Amino acid sequence: MSKNENSKKEGWQASIPDESLDPGQHKRRKAGKSDKGGTPSPVVWHTLHADEVHQRLETNPKGLSAEQADERLQKHGPNQLAQIKRRSAWMRLAMQFHNILLYVMMGAALITAFLGHWVDTGVLLFAVVINAVIGFIQEGKAENALEAIRNMLSPHATVIRGGQTTEVDAAHLVPGDVVVLGSGDRVPADVRLFHARELRVEEAALTGESLPVEKSTDAQPADAPLGDRFGMAYSGTMVVHGQGRGVVIHTGKHTEIGRINQMLVDVRSQSTPLVRQIDKFGQMLAVAILLVCALTFALGTFWRGNAPADMFMMVVALAASAIPEGLPAILTVTLALGVQRMARQNAIIRRLPAVEALGSVTVICSDKTGTLTRNEMTVQRIVSANHVYEVSGVGYAPRGEITHDGHIVDLETDHALALAVRAGVLCNDAHLYREDKAWKVMGDPTEGALLVLGAKAGFSQDLGEQAWPRLDVLPFESQHRFMATYHRNTDDKPWIFVKGAPEVILDMCEREYANSDLAPVNVDQWRRMATDTAAVGLRVLALACKQAAPEGDGLGFADTRSGFFMLGLVGIIDPPREEAALAVAQCHEAGIAVKMITGDHAETARAIGAQLGIGVGKPAVTGAEVAMMDDATLRSVVMNVDVFARASPEHKLRLVKALQGAGQVVSMTGDGVNDAPALKRADVGVAMGMKGTEAAKQASDMVLADDNFATIAIAVRQGRAVYDNLKKFVLFMLPTNGGEALVVIAAILFELALPLTAAQVLWINLVTSSALGMALAFEPAESGIMKRPPRPPGEKLLNGFFVWRVIMVSVLMMAGALGLFLWEYEHGTSLETARTMAVNAVVMCEMLYLINSRHIYDSVMNREGLFGNRYVLLAIAACVPLQLAFTYLPWMNTVFGSAPLQPIDWLKVLGAGLLVFFVSEIEKFVIRHTGLRKRLLGA
Ligand code: ATP
Repeated sequence: MSKNENSKKEGWQASIPDESLDPGQHKRRKAGKSDKGGTPSPVVWHTLHADEVHQRLETNPKGLSAEQADERLQKHGPNQLAQIKRRSAWMRLAMQFHNILLYVMMGAALITAFLGHWVDTGVLLFAVVINAVIGFIQEGKAENALEAIRNMLSPHATVIRGGQTTEVDAAHLVPGDVVVLGSGDRVPADVRLFHARELRVEEAALTGESLPVEKSTDAQPADAPLGDRFGMAYSGTMVVHGQGRGVVIHTGKHTEIGRINQMLVDVRSQSTPLVRQIDKFGQMLAVAILLVCALTFALGTFWRGNAPADMFMMVVALAASAIPEGLPAILTVTLALGVQRMARQNAIIRRLPAVEALGSVTVICSDKTGTLTRNEMTVQRIVSANHVYEVSGVGYAPRGEITHDGHIVDLETDHALALAVRAGVLCNDAHLYREDKAWKVMGDPTEGALLVLGAKAGFSQDLGEQAWPRLDVLPFESQHRFMATYHRNTDDKPWIFVKGAPEVILDMCEREYANSDLAPVNVDQWRRMATDTAAVGLRVLALACKQAAPEGDGLGFADTRSGFFMLGLVGIIDPPREEAALAVAQCHEAGIAVKMITGDHAETARAIGAQLGIGVGKPAVTGAEVAMMDDATLRSVVMNVDVFARASPEHKLRLVKALQGAGQVVSMTGDGVNDAPALKRADVGVAMGMKGTEAAKQASDMVLADDNFATIAIAVRQGRAVYDNLKKFVLFMLPTNGGEALVVIAAILFELALPLTAAQVLWINLVTSSALGMALAFEPAESGIMKRPPRPPGEKLLNGFFVWRVIMVSVLMMAGALGLFLWEYEHGTSLETARTMAVNAVVMCEMLYLINSRHIYDSVMNREGLFGNRYVLLAIAACVPLQLAFTYLPWMNTVFGSAPLQPIDWLKVLGAGLLVFFVSEIEKFVIRHTGLRKRLLGA
């Protein structure tokens, strides 16, 4: 099934108004002119050279000091755009009344007032108001909860302060800060670039131009339109390639996007397909109820000859009993509670429809590194042309030795090894540092592992860079699978180092460094060694170098094509997460296939997959093989393969499409900017919260705050639970209204005394729908929830089974309440007492049926079933004093026409409740033990 495009559009995605898509607007607005009412900014930044920008902002490429940043933050305020104006409280309250079910009730109130039935008018209006107030409060809570979740996704920025690279909340950026931009980042403020390396930025948010713009550090003429100011990067635009550095010139509302005054992240849709389905059902129900009311009124008045005023009161009672007023409020609450619960467990929902889609996911495609594995990398093996070395020590602490055949190796004499270690340290963008006695890595953990290796060999990053300063870099991009740096050594000789996937690096090499000599590269031998290293689950990187300067101005791809000599391979261990193995097993049990899609070597992927229970005994397929298959072949292969290695983001997109083509509901994880299309296409796109780029997060439906695969399994479980709770609530609500309506209809049809007055019906609805039904929103996931197969997507809520259950319980409730009423009334009990018993019988049925409703199919006749949800018990306990008040308080007797009951009467009332309870349990038993469920579901 492909994703519901509409729900995507309505989703929590960035929304930029049409006016922002008008590039002309920016052309018309001359740079540097003050914005309307804003602060005047006479400096036309894009015309200035970088040095001048530094000077004017009193900063330098090493950034501001922490004190300066604090001071400026006080002065300029946080780097935030004005919040979207929330609907005012009054507006929200008014909107609560905008509901067809409540319109019907208000109409009835008006007519009862006209007829002078003030008590009924009062109760009707009270019911309308109380429902609106409950809806208002609950919706407010739900909005706050979602707001809090949205704040958890606040963007971060990499800045250089006091010469140190750190991550800060983007809101804390100030003019003069030096920011580092990498592919996948959202530009956090308006920035004048002073360094750009293959930097391409997609500026559609501002200019409407979807093709990325190549950035440089050049100054532009003052009248250059926004899209042509190549030396600038603007807040809210997206880096799609390369690296850059720049000085922040404007923050918050003074940025270009701030001037347009738009929020970038807009959580709007509060609806899901199921909620819309139920909303529509509510409307149909209202129309049906009105028709039945009109028909009953006509029959009663014209056929039976009753007084129109009496008939009208009966019809009001009927309408009041049948309308499930509490429905909209409780649906919102159930969803919001579910989303909150997921957020507490690290799964942050960005688009509400994902909650439901999670419940029907049939395939989870996951990255390997960091999601299934711990992303704590340690080099364990080094392979040179002549030797295989072992490296001891675990984690990032630089404690351990490099040994060969059990002897510690002397790097002074082993030049090939020393150069390989140096290559790993120099061709590296990470930083190793110590904090609170623990060693940590800032940047890519793979590179961190190489720094730790260097430190173990006595080769520190700082000293290395001082002696061999870096002049240029080609950053790592997963589609190229390598990184290159250009240095000059102490003798001022040029060197280019590369590191990356072995097959990519081997392609660049002509020779290898063996025994202090250069020999022709033995490609087969290296390949074999790479495969052997990968087969034990190690991640393999190759290191190579050449003594040459770049051909052009800076380092380019042309400089990395040939002429290198191979130095060695490193094998890096990245242990699987223990909880991931359990989560994979859980998914399998829940009928969900788990596929690993990784950029890593096929052998490494297979070995790690086997440790996790993914793809055991099945072949692994590589990205190159996927590229060779046509769509039809891929569709036929995709279900039988669980490990896809050396896969690039385009392969991910094809795999999602193939799986969807094979009828699967797909969840796909991703972190890079290039993963965005696959995340968008997947039914549930999942981005990594820690290592994921802003681009991936924006394209996703859900963000994993801890990057952990196990969290996806938890989210699926919660998604199933939320859906269950919505169903349970509807299954509780409809028969309770249905039962009351049947009591009234039967009375009208058989010309009986009305067992429930309109006011009494409304009382029941208030007590039951507001107090009782709400408790089901707190229902925890059922224990067997991950043992069921996924829910078929597009499954209709009101299927045969639902209709059956609603009718059955409605009839039971009607039988209990009406039966009791008639019995008592026939045997001389007063009308008031008999009605009071009927009201109490209905409420008792609902209280006990609430317990039944905790499980749709499973029995509740056990400890967990009866006592497992304390909100259910509290709701029931809260109803008891209300019913006692209704029965015994004299003023209640006056308002509602109720009367005090005797103890024996209560036993009869309890009997009616137990009838519903036990018959419902018997029905579940029969359904569980026969094929009835399947037949009712039409499956
Ligand atoms: P995932 O499993 O999450 O897809 P991955 O780390 O296995 O992630 P990539 O990050 O795309 O996939 O890496 C693919 C290959 O590129 C790795 O197997 C490795 O050989 C090489 N590689 C990874 N990181 C670097 C790096 N920082 N510098 C150079 N090469 C790298």
